[in-house]
Amino acid sequence: MRYITLILLLGFLSSCLQKQGTAKISTGGSGPIAAGTPIRWSAATLAAPLDLKTSDSFTNDFAAADLDADGDHPIDQMGKLWNDSHSYTFLKVPSDTVGNLAYGDVSSFRDGQMGIYKSFTWFSNVSSSALAITQFFGFRRNVGTSSEYVELQHADIIVNYRDYNFSTDTTDNNAYDLHSVILHEQGHLIGLPHNWDWAQPSIMQPFLGITENKRTVTAADVASVADLYYVGAPLTGGGGGGFAAYSPNPDEGAEVSGTFELRADGSCHHYINNEKVLVH
Ligand SMILES: [Zn+2]
Repeated sequence: MRYITLILLLGFLSSCLQKQGTAKISTGGSGPIAAGTPIRWSAATLAAPLDLKTSDSFTNDFAAADLDADGDHPIDQMGKLWNDSHSYTFLKVPSDTVGNLAYGDVSSFRDGQMGIYKSFTWFSNVSSSALAITQFFGFRRNVGTSSEYVELQHADIIVNYRDYNFSTDTTDNNAYDLHSVILHEQGHLIGLPHNWDWAQPSIMQPFLGITENKRTVTAADVASVADLYYVGAPLTGGGGGGFAAYSPNPDEGAEVSGTFELRADGSCHHYINNEKVLVH
């Protein structure tokens, strides 16, 4: 099984490339990953909810007024919205609480636990315009076929507390809405790309304004989840139950990693192998 050092804004980049009519991203050996290649967890993995833990750096902030009727804190409240969007229970709720992790580079998050963390520093290869990122690691499946996808193995959410302030108070217009940021990143964590159709209300739009509160999984988002996890038929052909069988061959099994950003500004930044290649 080959390991490829590859940091790319897969969803973000492919969305931008689609707008430009360019289709391929080179991975330097295993063939290109086509723009729009689905990223998702396997049905076997989702037989149990993902054990995405919550850093105590968040839970220590929450007040009694932040809890819902079930006693769940804002991060779990957002997780429940995704769980309600599909027959899969994507995220374990209530989530376990863990100590915060403060790695200096995103690749270090490929560890033994998945979590939602605060970062008070930021990463040299990630834009300071990112409010938060979802860093994911997965394996290429069905390489070179119309049913290629990236099977997620590990993912974490890291929120940028170096450059931004966050609040659970919807009336606070001097901080970004934590619920909205977490809901967006959890969407990435289950595999959703950005939604560039500005006519559709969606939590997966790639930008968030400081006065915006978007605490809803919309009809467009539910449709995106259904498309990605279409139970009973494959997404794009091949396989069953929405998930093609994994049959290793020389092009299979290369691990890839990528970063989704939720940005505070309106520009589109492209990174390939840690190099900023385009801003528009
Ligand atoms: Zn995003």
